[in-house]
Amino acid sequence: MPCPPDVHNDDTRITAAGDRNESRRLMEIYDRLLGCFGPQHWWPADTPFEVAVGAILTQNTNWKNVERAVTNLKRADALTVEGIDGLAETELAELIRPSGYFTVKARRLKNFIGYITEKYRGDFLASLDGDGTHKRAELLSVSGIGPETADSILLYAGGHPTFVVDAYTRRVMARHGLVSEGAGYDELRSLFLDNLPADAALFNEYHTLFVAVGKDYCRPKNPRCEECPLTKDPAI
Ligand code: SF4
Repeated sequence: MPCPPDVHNDDTRITAAGDRNESRRLMEIYDRLLGCFGPQHWWPADTPFEVAVGAILTQNTNWKNVERAVTNLKRADALTVEGIDGLAETELAELIRPSGYFTVKARRLKNFIGYITEKYRGDFLASLDGDGTHKRAELLSVSGIGPETADSILLYAGGHPTFVVDAYTRRVMARHGLVSEGAGYDELRSLFLDNLPADAALFNEYHTLFVAVGKDYCRPKNPRCEECPLTKDPAI
């Protein structure tokens, strides 16, 4: 069943700083996706710290596996900075085994906890406070935290207006000619940051809508363009 077109051209959301044509196209995409899928209520977590742990665990796996690993941490009463800090790396790896690459991810979580304890005395919320650009640079300096993970933590745990780029985003944007096939993370991220208002709620929703359209319609092979809410037309 195709999604109904539900398009609003609300020029007040188009940033004056960016390219107005690009801004309009990006808002058109957003409106169509939101009209089709509705709010996605992401990220599913009880605390900002759980968001950060999930962002690290979700690398190269699906969300169901992350949920299993997070549940194990909760059952072990270890889903806190102190809890993870108090575990031996091998114990941590065993708890997060369902997320895959568990020894690598245990090391990454330990690196992350080391950063929080050494720089912020274990206060995770304090680590999110302040200038987003500076915080992003700090997170990227932690071994095992790349741009997608850093932006996920900043946006979904910290409420910073940054954009999370993933494979779904890249595929949709390239197929619509907004970036080249080989566009890098920073180029894609800048496209959104430069052409949309710095609005964390907008970026929060937009990222998850890309996931929705990527899963349901914009598949790597045989995309369902005919039924897709972004069905190819000149406006997009
Ligand atoms: S499925 Fe087709 S119309 Fe939909 S986002 Fe992908 S390329 Fe665009």
